[in-house]
Amino acid sequence: MREILINEPAFVRSFSCTGGACRDHCCKGWQITLDKQTVKKYTTSKDFTIRTIAEQSIDIVKKSQQDWGIVKFSPLTGNCPYFDEDRLCRVQKSMGAQALSHTCSMFPRSNRVYKAEIQHSLNISCPEVASIIFSDADAMRFSERVVLQDKFNNANPISAQNKLLNLFCLSLIDFVETDVETGLYATIKFLMFIEKVETIDDASLVEIENAYAVLAGQLQSGEMKQELAALSTDKKVKVSLVLLMQDFFRKKATTRGSGVLNYYIDYLLHALFAQQDAGLEEKITAIENAWQEIVLPSFEESGFAIKNFILYKFWQNNFPNYQSVPPLRALYMIVAEYYFIKLLASACAKHKGSIERDDLVNIVYSFHSLSQHNKALTETFYGHIESVRSGDDLSMIHLLG
Ligand code: SF4
Repeated sequence: MREILINEPAFVRSFSCTGGACRDHCCKGWQITLDKQTVKKYTTSKDFTIRTIAEQSIDIVKKSQQDWGIVKFSPLTGNCPYFDEDRLCRVQKSMGAQALSHTCSMFPRSNRVYKAEIQHSLNISCPEVASIIFSDADAMRFSERVVLQDKFNNANPISAQNKLLNLFCLSLIDFVETDVETGLYATIKFLMFIEKVETIDDASLVEIENAYAVLAGQLQSGEMKQELAALSTDKKVKVSLVLLMQDFFRKKATTRGSGVLNYYIDYLLHALFAQQDAGLEEKITAIENAWQEIVLPSFEESGFAIKNFILYKFWQNNFPNYQSVPPLRALYMIVAEYYFIKLLASACAKHKGSIERDDLVNIVYSFHSLSQHNKALTETFYGHIESVRSGDDLSMIHLLG
């Protein structure tokens, strides 16, 4: 037998699908691809309804064994044809969970599989996942356990250096109480140091560890916060990013989460364009003030909420170990996403005079549903952000503070 290490944050264990009670179930507005075996299972099912729906609503594409059929969702409701009147899945009800397609049985779970380790996570485009991240102080506490398997996984071994870099970045955010922007600034400085290291080996790891310790000390002493506050930031970067991102989402075809996200984007557009009494940069400042004056005080008792979100992003993306994206570029993307979500929440708070945790959950799950539901979508979205970055990763500093 082989020992496999399972590494997961607490929210993975506490997650349980809310099924029929879900505020925006995942059987809507998406594309479900079925493998050959699953298509056969449905089209030959003894259950008349399952079989009839399969005959009427599965497009046979035969692109590959894995990509054999596509489920056609209702043009009227956007729902999966197997979604029943009790807001539950007919396939699961009548044939059991083992009959679900790979996509349906996995979502919202996502795993990183290495030879002797599996890292578990969940996709935050599920509202229940977002809800746990924002409501459970311990959601991002990690635990490890060992399970026994016949064989090692058929995958590459984990890189000890990559694992360590991820841990360093997670703990720089974990050092701050509520001020994630200072934690992100410390992470930028850490990555600038890493960029100068030619090869990450045992010798350079000692230097990296020293650099991390200095940054951690500056975070704890308050020096880092003062340094960030003393930087002068260019509001034009913020204006460009916000205009571009809202444009990306508003032009997207209607899919799961789009109505919810557009509801919050409307608040943002109202705050930016309803009156012609000030320039866009001043209006951005006024919206940001609502973050300090309304949003953060509203989450005083759950000050961990925003921090949990950044920790989640670092874990979910195995940050900064992206395959073909340099670490600073990868951080730019996370900071850009954070800033847009911050402005959506602030514009909502400014308009209503208050904000609930549910608003934050709605913004975050719908944002991720529209930007990161699959690899192609994520690449298009990041391509969009690239046009603001203009080749300068460090311009992300203008989005902090
Ligand atoms: S979105 Fe999440 S909570 Fe809702 S039905 Fe899907 S898995 Fe369950």
